[in-house]
Amino acid sequence: MPIVKNFFIGLSNNPLLNKTAKEIGPMLGANKVVAGNTITALVDTIERLNNKGITVTVDCLGEFVLTEGEAIQAKDQIIEVMYAIYNHNLDGHMSIKLSQLGSEFDIDLAYRNLREILLKANQFDNMHINIDTEKYDSLFDITQVLDRLKGEFKNVGTVIQAYLYKADALIDKYPELRLRMVKGAYKESDTIAYQTKEEIDKNYIRLMEKRLLNSKNVTSIATHDDEIIKHMKQFIKDNNIEKSQYEFQMLYGFRTDLAEKIAGEGNNFCIYVPYGNDWFSYFMRRLAERPQNLNLMFKEVIKPDILKKAGVISGAVASFGLATTFLYHIFKK
Ligand SMILES: Cc1cc2nc3c(=O)[nH]c(=O)nc-3n(C[C@H](O)[C@H](O)[C@H](O)COP(=O)(O)OP(=O)(O)OC[C@H]3O[C@@H](n4cnc5c(N)ncnc54)[C@H](O)[C@@H]3O)c2cc1C
Repeated sequence: MPIVKNFFIGLSNNPLLNKTAKEIGPMLGANKVVAGNTITALVDTIERLNNKGITVTVDCLGEFVLTEGEAIQAKDQIIEVMYAIYNHNLDGHMSIKLSQLGSEFDIDLAYRNLREILLKANQFDNMHINIDTEKYDSLFDITQVLDRLKGEFKNVGTVIQAYLYKADALIDKYPELRLRMVKGAYKESDTIAYQTKEEIDKNYIRLMEKRLLNSKNVTSIATHDDEIIKHMKQFIKDNNIEKSQYEFQMLYGFRTDLAEKIAGEGNNFCIYVPYGNDWFSYFMRRLAERPQNLNLMFKEVIKPDILKKAGVISGAVASFGLATTFLYHIFKK
């Protein structure tokens, strides 16, 4: 259903909606998939997951960072969360988007921010810092920054998006790094990325097998796809892949029963926990991936207090934004 996917990806990229949503705070069901916006709520969530034998990677939500001040604020918030994880003796690490550290307008600023985070991480038992991958346009920046930092720090890694034709070369380039393997969440053209689920799934499995056979560092198998999880479990068994070499990962709030089952079987398991007010883009990408996730939204929307919470003006702005973006995408087709 490319039209539905395009619609939600279009919304995720809309700065006005993102700004309005940030002011309102997590709603429309996002509060089911975002672990609140206070350190106390975040610590409670991590403790609950840790008690089930599940580790976490925290994403301090934030996109559309346009000024140095915002980038520094994002860096400070990330360090605040790292302190909380360390001080509460929690089992967790961080997932960071380079764009939130300023890469879209000053790559050197993003590099300096990330380096400061990595220096802090070294004081916190070498906490792992993962650089999430974003739109293809930003991939060059990510590899550039990674190449500058990977000699100095051992606790930095990134994500490989299996829909990219380039994914193969990236796996070969970084055998020594901890890597998360995903299918890919953005809309990319057929000149750079596979388009169909069949092609993407096939490439995902092929790349994962190659990576597990060729790297001793951790590979995170990040998917909610039962068939792929089943396949990878068998592959791991057949090839005697050591437990320290892999973990499964899922997003907070999705397929919780399956996550707990896989962790309960003795596998390393990590949940990706989004945190904070800047929830809109993240949530729209989840709706683009799986329109069935809309049921989270419908359950929320019918709550009568929601309009009161949003306020009349922001509600009107959000509705207007939603409607115009929708029409824009329909007529662009
Ligand atoms: C931990 C983690 C981190 C990520 N980091 C990044 C990143 O840095 N960059 C990036 O581009 N993308 C990232 N992603 C997103 C990823 O690229 C995919 O867009 C997303 O995971 C959806 O693909 P999928 O592999 O889960 O399977 P899909 O192809 O979306 O789904 C496959 C099948 O799984 C089942 N399924 C999926 N979701 C559900 C559900 N909620 N309930 C029931 N069944 C379900 C269904 O049977 C479905 O047909 C991340 C994903 C995860 C899990």
